[in-house]
Amino acid sequence: MFTTDQWQTGKKVIETLNQHGFEAVFVGGAVRDFVRCKIANDIDIATSALPSEVKSIFKRTVDLGLAHGTVLVIENHVPIEVTTFRTEGQYTDHRRPSDVRFVQSLEEDLKRRDFTMNALAMTAEFQLVDLFDGQRDLHNGIIRTVGEPSDRFKEDALRMLRAIRFSAQLGFSIEDTTLGAIKLCANDLAYVSVERLTAELEKIWLSTHLEKGMTYLGQSQLAKHMPGDFSFEDEKWGYLGNPQNVLVCWAFLCLLQEKPNGSEVATVFKLSNDIKQQINYLVNATQIRCERIFTIHDLYQFEENILVKAEHLARVLCSDIQHMPTETIVQRKQALPIQSIRELVISGQDVMEWFNKPGGPWLKETLSQIELAVLHQKVANNATKLKEWILNESNSEI
Ligand code: ATP
Ligand code: MG
Repeated sequence: MFTTDQWQTGKKVIETLNQHGFEAVFVGGAVRDFVRCKIANDIDIATSALPSEVKSIFKRTVDLGLAHGTVLVIENHVPIEVTTFRTEGQYTDHRRPSDVRFVQSLEEDLKRRDFTMNALAMTAEFQLVDLFDGQRDLHNGIIRTVGEPSDRFKEDALRMLRAIRFSAQLGFSIEDTTLGAIKLCANDLAYVSVERLTAELEKIWLSTHLEKGMTYLGQSQLAKHMPGDFSFEDEKWGYLGNPQNVLVCWAFLCLLQEKPNGSEVATVFKLSNDIKQQINYLVNATQIRCERIFTIHDLYQFEENILVKAEHLARVLCSDIQHMPTETIVQRKQALPIQSIRELVISGQDVMEWFNKPGGPWLKETLSQIELAVLHQKVANNATKLKEWILNESNSEI
C-alpha cells in the first residue's frame, strides 16, 4: 500500500518535518483506509509545527485555512494537507468550535476526532499510534465515538450523520451506546446546514451499503429530523439495490411522496438547477414507465441514461410491470431514425425556400411536423423525400 506516489510523498513530508525537529504523523481517513488495505482518497498529516513553520520548510505550499492550521504542501506534484495539532474550544452552536488552539500534543489532537477508527495515527515508519482502540473497532467493524458519545454529538451534530455515512460506506455497525446517543441528540440535526446534510446524504447514497445507511437513518431517528417532509424511512429503500448514483436516489425520494415534485426536493436540499432538471426528467419518465412500456415518443424524448434509470426505478416502485432489459431499451432508442431535431438533414432555411415564405411561427410548426414524420418513419430523412412529402402534406391540408 505504501508504494503509491501519495504515500511515498507523505512519508517524505513527515521525514522532512521530523528533520526540522517537529513531530508529524499520518492521520484520519488515510490511516483508517491503510489498516483496511484500501486505497485512500487523500492523505492528511498532522504535525506539531505551526502553519508558518510548515510554510517555511516546504517550497510549494497553499494556505487552506490558516486559522484551522491547514497548509497544503505540494511535493512531486502530489498535494498533501498538513495540519497543526490542535484542540477545539467550546462548541456554542452544535456545529463549530468557537476557537481552535494549536497544541504540541498528538494525543490532544486525536482526542478531538470523531470516531475511534478516525483517531488512529501512523508514523513515517508505519507504526500505528492507537490511543482509543481504533484498530480493534476497525477489525470488528464498529463505529464508536472517541469519548462520551452524547457529549461529542452535542458539540457537533454533523458527527451523527457522519456515523451513518461511515456505516454505509464501510458496512460497519454503530456501537450501541453511540447509536443510543444519536437517538437522544437526533433533534440537534437542525443545527447542521442543509449543504452539509446534502453532502452526507449523497455520500450515503453513493455507498455500497446504501440499505444499511438508510436503515440506520430511520433507526437513529435522524430521518425524522431531515429537512422537509420526505420518506427517508420507507422500506422501499431496501429494494433499491446499490445504484451508486445520486440522481436515482433524489428521484426515488421524490417518487416516494404522494405527489412527486422534483423542484420541491431540489429547493429544500439546495440542489443545483442542473440536477433539479434531471430529477424532474427522471421522475416524469418513471411515472410514464409505471403506466406503459416506453413508446417511440418516450424513447425519443428522454436521454438514454434517464430511460435506463427510469426502468430501474419503475421496477422498484411498480412491481407489477414487466421488466425490459437495459439492452432492449438502448437498442430501441438507438434504432430511432433520429435522436434529435438536429439530426434532420434539412434546416429551417430549406423549408423557407421550399415554401418561398419568410420565417414565422408556421416554420417551427412545420419543422416539428417533419420531425415527427421522420421519427415515426412516415418519410425518410432525405432532403428530396422531405420536400416532396411536406409540400404534399400542406397541399392536402388546404
Ligand atoms: P473520507 O475518506 O470521506 O475523506 P475521512 O475520515 O478522511 O473520510 P474527513 O471528513 O476528510 O473524513 O476528515 C478527516 C479526519 O478529520 C477524520 O478522519 C476525523 O479524524 C476528523 N474529522 C472530520 N470531521 C470531523 C468532525 N465533524 N468531528 C471530529 N472529527 C472530525
Ligand atoms: Mg478525508
